[in-house]
Amino acid sequence: MRSDPHVHAAGAALADLVLEKTGVDVARCYQCGKCSAGCPLAAEMDFPPSQIMHLLQLRDLPGFAEMALRSHTIWLCLTCEICYCRCPMELDIPKVMDALRHESLARGMVHPKAKDILAFHRAFLDSVRVTGRLFEMGQVVDYKLRSGHFLQDLLQAPWMFWVGKLHLLPERVRDRRALKRIFAKTRRVGEKRP
Ligand code: SF4
Ligand code: SF4
Repeated sequence: MRSDPHVHAAGAALADLVLEKTGVDVARCYQCGKCSAGCPLAAEMDFPPSQIMHLLQLRDLPGFAEMALRSHTIWLCLTCEICYCRCPMELDIPKVMDALRHESLARGMVHPKAKDILAFHRAFLDSVRVTGRLFEMGQVVDYKLRSGHFLQDLLQAPWMFWVGKLHLLPERVRDRRALKRIFAKTRRVGEKRP
């Protein structure tokens, strides 16, 4: 059976892109598995971190790079850096995960189970963008609208309100212009990335 040269190119391009964005050469990973053994979320992941590295190493075989981009793993990663600390080759896996998340979003390959994680990230960022701080009540409402989980954790709300963790009105930072500049600059940097 003839292989698809476009798929090969996509796999190779992803390993190269990761190198360009993060400085991590996945070819240096020798699959010792120390990263996966230390990862607190490995049991929940569809591919533990060492396997993600392996998928990227299989750059010339069709479909493997795509499996990394479609994985749940890249969205579960906490960026805790335990894997990075344990890696004898000092490979910065959290950076690789970050690059893969960007690419997965850009190519529309986000794992279906990551929908809620993305909704949470967006609600968090929107809160910071608008107020300059985390406004929990706004974030909760935003998250529920995005995720559709209207009743989830609803019984926690009165208690959180009682202990002062939920405020009805947001606090805002004074320098809103600086806030706008930070977000505009971050967006420009993101757009310039290859
Ligand atoms: S940074 Fe991510 S992959 Fe590495 S140990 Fe932490 S959760 Fe696991
Ligand atoms: S610890 Fe480093 S060398 Fe070992 S499998 Fe993980 S990334 Fe590869």
